[in-house]
Amino acid sequence: MLGHSHATSGALAWSGAAVALPITALTYPAVQTGVGHLGIADLLLGTFLTAGAALLPDADHPNSSIAHVLGPISHILCTIISKVSGGHRHGTHSLLFVALVTYGTWAGVHWLGKPFTLALVFFLLALAVRALHLCPGGDSVKAWGTVAVLAAAGTFAMDHWLADKPSWLPFAVGLGALAHILGDCLTDKGCRLFWPFDIRVRFPIIERTGNKVETWLISPLFVAGTLAVLWYAITRQP
Ligand SMILES: [Zn+2]
Repeated sequence: MLGHSHATSGALAWSGAAVALPITALTYPAVQTGVGHLGIADLLLGTFLTAGAALLPDADHPNSSIAHVLGPISHILCTIISKVSGGHRHGTHSLLFVALVTYGTWAGVHWLGKPFTLALVFFLLALAVRALHLCPGGDSVKAWGTVAVLAAAGTFAMDHWLADKPSWLPFAVGLGALAHILGDCLTDKGCRLFWPFDIRVRFPIIERTGNKVETWLISPLFVAGTLAVLWYAITRQP
């Protein structure tokens, strides 16, 4: 699947989950005793962050859009991850990876606090900006410079509006990764969901990655769905 399909599927998954699930699920694995639901700022910021997190599994591919997001820095990182996880669509396209990023985010937010949260927010926003085509294409300095500026602006905004430890952040990151993997299962290559076991899961509905159906049908539907759910959630707020 293409970057924008993954990002928009993540956004839709988040908005749907935020409306349908109780707050205790959204703040997993932290224990939340308070009742209530997410505020509008959390809801909207979570949409962008989950969209960005939906790109994370492709960090195993040195030529993916995630690899170019922050120029040479992200390219080197992706090359390392690709080597460690055994190549494209192996380790990072598994349920184990979803668990790893969920608990990793929880541990980072819990133990390292604000510096970790802001760094992660910056990185996820950069991914979202890139995948949603809010910047020039290619891997020029102009492209990733724009990404860095927009992501930094968003991070400052979040610093202003969000709690030091947004309790829903681990859930959003895990959900984004899960949406990505399930999306890839719909392509003919499938994913090794149960990695390190070599079982390939696939329901090939989407014939070939990068086709017109994704750009002109699937992504716009995901965006429309996300906007509809967000609209419902916001107008329902007391
Ligand atoms: Zn993928």
